[in-house]
Amino acid sequence: EPPLLEVDDLQTSFIVGEGQDVRAVDGVNFVVRAGETLAIVGESGSGKSVTSLSIMRLLPKNIGRISRGTIRLRGKDLVTLSDREMRAIRGNDIGMIFQEPMTSLNPVHTIGTQIAEVVMQHDKLKKKAAHQRAIEMLELVGIPEPVKRADQYPHQMSGGMRQRAMIAMALACEPSVLIADEPTTALDVTIQAQILDLMRNLQKKMGMAIVFITHDLGVVAEMADRVVVMYAGQVVETGTVEEIFTRPLMPYTSGLMQSIPRMGESEKKLRLQTIPGYVPLLTKLPGGCRFRTRCAFAEDRCAVAEPPLEELESGRSVRCIRWRELELKTKASA
Ligand code: ATP
Ligand code: MG
Repeated sequence: EPPLLEVDDLQTSFIVGEGQDVRAVDGVNFVVRAGETLAIVGESGSGKSVTSLSIMRLLPKNIGRISRGTIRLRGKDLVTLSDREMRAIRGNDIGMIFQEPMTSLNPVHTIGTQIAEVVMQHDKLKKKAAHQRAIEMLELVGIPEPVKRADQYPHQMSGGMRQRAMIAMALACEPSVLIADEPTTALDVTIQAQILDLMRNLQKKMGMAIVFITHDLGVVAEMADRVVVMYAGQVVETGTVEEIFTRPLMPYTSGLMQSIPRMGESEKKLRLQTIPGYVPLLTKLPGGCRFRTRCAFAEDRCAVAEPPLEELESGRSVRCIRWRELELKTKASA
């Protein structure tokens, strides 16, 4: 049986200025299994949102396009589907919570109407029943007075309420895959905890898989089963959450993991550690390993060729020619 979602050799390009093409996502591979939570981490600009927008086929028209690779949902390639077929997938199989709530909420319709529309598409319910279901969804995401809230427009809600409304909308179609791009970053800690709880409960109840994109390592530790680490448009390491946190193989991953909380510090929101230097511009990538300009372990041979993503027997993968000789440590393992 094919995996639930399999991204293979995905390449997504943007046209920037005079016919210049930039590969924001460059040969990305990963698998999402039914019921699991996969976290995608990496610094700003590493291609996490572009990867999820590619899966949803919601790249900006005429500017962004999938230029290579496949995205298979239960074996069916989404890249080659017509827009119409893809709309059906979006309403049913894959739901997405966007980094910015206003990108998915329509300012001219009430929240109740918007969720009801999703439900009507999915369940073929009549208008009244769909509206009732929308109210139930709002209640489910912890919105007080859901009947009243259903009649409000997005701008009448606080940021936290809007985020919950968007989550309700994404979950209304009971997707088998939920892509959550920084779903709780803008929310305060209490609401964040409530929403993470909600996502976990729904996952248990409906068995959906979650692709979770976040800068918050505390959330990764709490939510994820496996982790994909991205750098400059590529996957550089994958492993279980335990492996990534305690035994990273790639210097970039161990750099990111340096910010793991020790006991007592866990109340703080932990952002990914900043690594000295900057992510290279996609138009000015160094030859060889893309991370070598910032890597404390780089040698001349790291500049010779781009390291392949090496698939290990354990099911992990790593993109570094030196990983065998390095014994990387994080605070968590120290
Ligand atoms: P963040 O953590 O800040 O959300 P990210 O990993 O989600 O970062 P992406 O938004 O996926 O990063 O961006 C990856 C690259 O693609 C960046 O270099 C960005 O400039 C480029 N990019 C994204 N959208 C566009 C666009 N519409 N046109 C041109 N380039 C784009
Ligand atoms: Mg992003």
